[in-house]
Amino acid sequence: MTHLPVVNSQRASVFHLTAVMSLAASAVEIWLDRHSEPLPARRPLAACLLVSALIYAVRLVCIVLDIPSEFDFSTAFFLQIFFNFWIALLVVTLVRERREAGLQLAADTDALTGVGNRRWFLGRLPPAPLANSALAILDVDHFKQINDRFGHPVGDLVLALVATAIRDGLREGDVLARYGGEEFALFLPNVDEQDARAVAERLRKRIEAMSIVIDGGRVSVTASIGVAWSDRNGGAWDAWIKTADSACYAAKGGGRNLVKTSAV
Ligand code: GH3
Ligand code: MG
Ligand code: MG
Repeated sequence: MTHLPVVNSQRASVFHLTAVMSLAASAVEIWLDRHSEPLPARRPLAACLLVSALIYAVRLVCIVLDIPSEFDFSTAFFLQIFFNFWIALLVVTLVRERREAGLQLAADTDALTGVGNRRWFLGRLPPAPLANSALAILDVDHFKQINDRFGHPVGDLVLALVATAIRDGLREGDVLARYGGEEFALFLPNVDEQDARAVAERLRKRIEAMSIVIDGGRVSVTASIGVAWSDRNGGAWDAWIKTADSACYAAKGGGRNLVKTSAV
């Protein structure tokens, strides 16, 4: 027996049904974004919402079927209050984690191209250079002329398109960042010298093949790429960056739209 007059049990049923549906929907909503936004508070919050929905669901069944149960209103009420505290705490935590993740993303990302910035790139490198990995510097050729001829906004567009072309041409695990004005840096783990060269060649060709038409005129874009590679562990990243820079400089000297590889 629920000891409720009929009208009250109907009211209680509607209330419990609404609670079950809204809490379950919230749990699903929170759970679905766990891969795209993996915040620590997400899973426990989804779990608390689901348990809370289940408690209401059990009570709903008892009310609708008029089942007398040990699990009465006061026990359910006590548990709901307990879960409400946790839900409130986890919602506040999730909001804070989301804000911090947003700030971190903004601090790590280059606003124009959407790829990581130099600071982020340096933070993504292993603490010390690893054998059979490569570091590349890619510099857009005659970029100043593109700005001068088509205007700065077109230059910006070209940089964004170059970043996209590089990103889409990389393997899982490769690291790309905008290193400076029209310079990009890449870290390629687990590559032998030939692989590193092949990746750089592929990127060079992708950029050369980009078709950008502005006011009827084709903007031709090429890039020079310097690759530093080593088969030994250890050393300093500074030396790798210098080697890649020098190789890029050599590619410029060799006529541009070229890849040059150099061992560290
Ligand atoms: P090179 O082939 O030798 O690399 O010649 P370059 O013209 O590409 O190199 P230079 O260093 O002479 O010029 C780079 C230009 O890139 C100058 C600078 O105004 C421009 N630049 C740097 N950052 C940006 C940006 O965010 N947007 C635009 N549109 N231009 C930029
Ligand atoms: Mg440059
Ligand atoms: Mg340049």
